[in-house]
Amino acid sequence: MRTKIASPLAETAAGAIAGEVLRACVHCGMCNATCPTYQLTGDELDGPRGRIYLIKQALEGEPVGRLSQVHLDRCLSCRACETTCPSGVQYHRLLDVGREAIAEKVRRPLRERLWRAALRWLCVEPWRLASLIAIGRPFRSLMPAGLRGKLPARVSARPSTAGDHPRRMSLLTGCVQSATAPHFNAATRRVFDGVGIALGETPGVRCCGALSAHLDAPEEARLIARRNIDIWTAELDTGAQAIVVNASGCAAFIRDYPDLLADDAVYSVKARRIAGHVRDPAEVLTDHPPTAVRAPARRRIAVHQPCTLRNGPGLGDAPARILAGLGYEPQPVADAHLCCGSAGAYSLLQPEMAGRLREAKISALTEGAPEAIYTANIGCWMHLAETAPVPVRHWIEAVDDVVSDPGTP
Ligand code: SF4
Ligand code: SF4
Repeated sequence: MRTKIASPLAETAAGAIAGEVLRACVHCGMCNATCPTYQLTGDELDGPRGRIYLIKQALEGEPVGRLSQVHLDRCLSCRACETTCPSGVQYHRLLDVGREAIAEKVRRPLRERLWRAALRWLCVEPWRLASLIAIGRPFRSLMPAGLRGKLPARVSARPSTAGDHPRRMSLLTGCVQSATAPHFNAATRRVFDGVGIALGETPGVRCCGALSAHLDAPEEARLIARRNIDIWTAELDTGAQAIVVNASGCAAFIRDYPDLLADDAVYSVKARRIAGHVRDPAEVLTDHPPTAVRAPARRRIAVHQPCTLRNGPGLGDAPARILAGLGYEPQPVADAHLCCGSAGAYSLLQPEMAGRLREAKISALTEGAPEAIYTANIGCWMHLAETAPVPVRHWIEAVDDVVSDPGTP
C-alpha cells in the first residue's frame, strides 16, 4: 500500500516503522478471519484491515476524530491478525504508533480520562493496589457480584528463596502480579531452584510500563522502560543470564521496548539487548526440564494460551507440553487463537466486549471437563477466574505442585 507519512512524524524512527508496516499491507483482508473483534461486531473498522486504514489516514495528516479512536480502542492488541497475514504485516507495531498519534489529536471524554488516570495511578505502584485489595477483602461478601469477582482471593504463598547456584537469572515480579498473586513468583523461584537456577529479584523494577502505554501515557511508559533497562543492564553485566518474566503480557511489552524507545538513540540500543534476554519460564524449563517427584493431584487440566505467549514469541503450546511431561493430561482447547478478552487493561476499559470474549473462551476451556484451568499471564488469570467454574491458576504452580518438596521453602 502506498503511503506518505506527514511531518513531523515522517522524520522520526516511529514514523519509519509505521511507513514500513503500511507499505507491507496489500489490503487483502485475510487477517479479518482471525480477528476476535471483527468476529464479534462484523464491522470492517473493528478488524485489522479497517484499523490499518484508520491509522493510515491519521498518520498521513488527514482529519481524525473520535470514531477512529473508538475503533482502535476496541482492538485487543492480540496479534491474531498477524498469524494469518500472508504479507507478514507487523500490525502491532503500526497500532502502537497510530494509537499514540491519535491520542495526541483526539481528546477523550472527561470520564474516560479520569478512569484511565485512576487505573494508572493504582496499578503502576504495587503497594497502592495491594493496599486497596487488603482494605476491600473484609467487605468482599457485601460487594456487588461484579466487583466481588474482580477482587482476587488471598492465596497464601509458601516462602521461597532464590537458592544458591552458579547459574543466575533475574525475575520481574510485576506491579499487578506482586500485589494480587505473589504466589506465582514464589512458585517460579522454587521451580527454578529445583533445576539449578538462582532466580533473584531486582529491587527497583516494579512495573514493565505496559499499563501506562495502554492508558494514554506513553512518556510515562518510556520513563519506566529506561529505568528498568538501566537496572537490568547492571544485572546482565554482573552475570545474570536472562530476565525471566512469568507474565506473558509484560514479556511481550518488554520485547517491544526497542520500538517504544525507537527515537532514543542511546536507549533503543540498550533496549535491544534487554529484549533479547527476556525469557518466559516455559523457554527456560524447555531447556532445563524439571523432574516430577509426585503425581498431579488434579491430572485433567485445560491450558489457556495467552495471545502474548502465542502470537508474538510462538510459545503458546509450551506450558501444556511441559505439564504433559510431568504427568498432567491437558485437554484439547478449540479456537486457541481467540483472545480471552483480558488484554492488559482492556477488560476494564471495554467490559462488554471483554465479557463476551471470556464467555466463549471459558466455554472452549471447559469443553473437556478439566479439574483446573492454567494460564501464563496475570491479566488472563484475573479475568478468567472471575467467572470460571473451576480453579484458574498459573501453569508454573502446576509444575511446583509436582516437583517441589512441600516441606521446604
Ligand atoms: S494486514 Fe496482511 S492480511 Fe491484513 S489486509 Fe494487510 S496484507 Fe492483508
Ligand atoms: S490485534 Fe487482535 S483485535 Fe486487534 S486487529 Fe489484530 S486480531 Fe483484531
